[in-house]
Amino acid sequence: MPTTPAQSQRGEVSDSEGLFVVRHPLIQHKLALLRDRHTPTKIFKELVDEIAMLLAYEATINLALEQTEVETPLERAPGHRVAGKKLTLVPILRAGLGMVEGILKLVPSARVGHIGLYRDHDTLKPVDYYFKVPSDAAERDFLLLDPMLATGGSAVAAINSLKRAGAQRIRFLCIVAAPVGVGRVRTVHPDVPIICAALDRELNEHGYILPGLGDAGDRLFGTR
Ligand code: URA
Repeated sequence: MPTTPAQSQRGEVSDSEGLFVVRHPLIQHKLALLRDRHTPTKIFKELVDEIAMLLAYEATINLALEQTEVETPLERAPGHRVAGKKLTLVPILRAGLGMVEGILKLVPSARVGHIGLYRDHDTLKPVDYYFKVPSDAAERDFLLLDPMLATGGSAVAAINSLKRAGAQRIRFLCIVAAPVGVGRVRTVHPDVPIICAALDRELNEHGYILPGLGDAGDRLFGTR
């Protein structure tokens, strides 16, 4: 996937230095429902699923194509298919898991890796406790998934791990981003575009995004 930004002929994407806020009306409608504290777990999951699929549609706008031919019931016809190795989705555990199924509806043949991170109590740095992606990472396009981009610590650590494994083409998909997280990812990894549904105001003293939607993992998995 070329690193040129996702663009839209219809102007739903606003692009600012590698940050793409997808302002499609359906995404914004679903986002308001997602933010609502009264939205139950089942609906919350469905909304994450649907928003992730719509974000992935924009994030894959530059996937390389190759020519092919198909046989229609009447004759042979030229066509296209996505070129290269299968796209790879990498959810950051655990909230990123909520974005996988929706994107797989759009790209059923995508591979799915996983990254689990925890924060070391002494160094306060994120450490991988689980990391598994396809071995031929250098040849693949990656969509790294986490609904919330807050401080950017996990996102930067996950991108570091993906790059250590050889990944060269990574896009970060989140639903809600905070300015500090965007700044951190863009500073450390300027080659990684961020695609989101909203850029919110700030973080509170506990690291939650304001206005945000609360703890995405808890709301997805009903562990509040
Ligand atoms: N993670 C969440 O789930 N929510 C936030 O607001 C910030 C980080």
